[in-house]
Amino acid sequence: MVRRVAIVGAGVSGLAAIKCCREEGLEPTCFERSEDIGGLWRYAEHVEEGRASIYRTVFTNSCKEMMCYPDFPFPDDHPNYMHNTKLQEYIRKFAEQFDLLRHIRFKTLVTKIKKRPDFSVTGQWDVVTEKEGKKETEVFDAVMICSGHHVYPNFPAASFPGIQKFKGCYFHSRDYKEPEKFRGKKVLVIGLGNSGCDIAVELSTVASQVYLSSRSGSWVMSRVWEHGYPWDMKIVTRFQTWLGTVLPRALSDWLYVRRMNRPFKHENFGLMPVDGTLRKEPVFNDDLPSRIACGVVVMKPNVKEFRETSVLFQDGTLQEDVDVVIFATGYSFSYPFMEDDSIIKSRDNNITLYKSILPPQLEKPTLAIIGLVQSLGAIIPTSDLQCRWAVKVFQGRWKGMSWANDPGEMCQKEPCLLSPQRYGTSNTLQMDYITYLDELATAIGVKPSLPKLLLTDPRLALEIFFGPCTPYQFRLTGPGKWSGARRAILTQWDRTLG
Ligand code: FAD
Repeated sequence: MVRRVAIVGAGVSGLAAIKCCREEGLEPTCFERSEDIGGLWRYAEHVEEGRASIYRTVFTNSCKEMMCYPDFPFPDDHPNYMHNTKLQEYIRKFAEQFDLLRHIRFKTLVTKIKKRPDFSVTGQWDVVTEKEGKKETEVFDAVMICSGHHVYPNFPAASFPGIQKFKGCYFHSRDYKEPEKFRGKKVLVIGLGNSGCDIAVELSTVASQVYLSSRSGSWVMSRVWEHGYPWDMKIVTRFQTWLGTVLPRALSDWLYVRRMNRPFKHENFGLMPVDGTLRKEPVFNDDLPSRIACGVVVMKPNVKEFRETSVLFQDGTLQEDVDVVIFATGYSFSYPFMEDDSIIKSRDNNITLYKSILPPQLEKPTLAIIGLVQSLGAIIPTSDLQCRWAVKVFQGRWKGMSWANDPGEMCQKEPCLLSPQRYGTSNTLQMDYITYLDELATAIGVKPSLPKLLLTDPRLALEIFFGPCTPYQFRLTGPGKWSGARRAILTQWDRTLG
């Protein structure tokens, strides 16, 4: 019987894990290496080892209705998109409301997680922690890893010939905090992801010139979408997901490109993705097109070579006197505390996780990796459902095949995993948000039944199908039901108005 659960990390996923364990009568112990909750969202002036680091001006890309815990809406007066400090306030209120803090051991680093000798029978783990130099080993029945995946910089130096010769300053975006010290400098930002765009736009207000280099372009979307509503409330809907499955591919691709190009034609701004129909995660930036239009950010192709003070690009242009290069080249994930990290990472560095949560090769399903998925949806509702599902699996209370069957085979058919041909490659697990959440919700009996609702509560059914797939939908019914969910769904648009 699973009783004691170790949770690594007290970011938004770790807090969801504590709450879900409590809801199911388990005993969670959460280990957090830093002195506070919040993980990535807790801004600090200095980069801390092993914890995600953000710049001062990070705002959310998911709106408050789409990114809340499903039974804890944001206060009405919160803006739709939030500065990291506002989100951190919310995270703290959530932890206090559900009395989660008492389960967290702060300043406690998990240094090793290993199977116990009798793992094949008990499924238990030895968890080694270190606090103020003191090591301790404890036995847990299950482990939930919520340590985040924006910590270890992906810095492909080999792809940038000559970087060692470059005499200016260069660093990864993880080390970027604020723009002031770049006043009057010529800065090259490499990478057209969310961080690269944010940093380029921010620096363009102080630098003498900003160049933004991109290998393959990207769709750039505004947070403010049709009629001023949040983009995700308009796009992340069951209706849109259904359309994607019934429309012929060519028509769906044509509509997609047309919609993405509606606010501005990407081609005219040097942003057009190499394969425009590829559903790569878009970038969210309201200001980049105007910064490019004003000439303060200049788009550049991939770097061919660095020289002592200049940079040669693939199109043959040479940029002289570059002072600073910022590599916004993303992150790779790592689990340094796993004694055998092949449990999570396969030999070729790919991840194979059943339902994107459980390593399939374990004799007992008592290890869950939470939050290692990427989708158009927000992480908080995703982690919440992942935790609820994992906890049910720990207890053997889920609808699915028995773990004793061939778990390797279980991963063969993952219907919600997105194909790289259509969505591009990524080093996280790319999911179709609604399909994935529905699959987890079905397994634990919390997916709203639309046919039934159409008969009993048609207004709610229509809002669930045509409206945004807000997290409340997964607390409407079944275990973990929240009595405020129906009301929250029917009033969600009202709360987006200023
Ligand atoms: P984290 O927030 O990274 O927390 C992990 C915690 O684990 C940390 O507190 C860390 O100290 C602790 N830890 C790690 N290792 C150990 C150890 N060995 N022992 C003990 N403790 C340990 N997502 C959205 O949904 N919406 C957004 O708008 C959004 N914007 C983003 C913007 C940026 C710039 C970035 C980088 C990411 C953004 N994300 C967004 C994704 C983001 O990763 C998630 O929102 C979220 O922070 C992930 O939470 P987490 O709890 O899984 O991990």
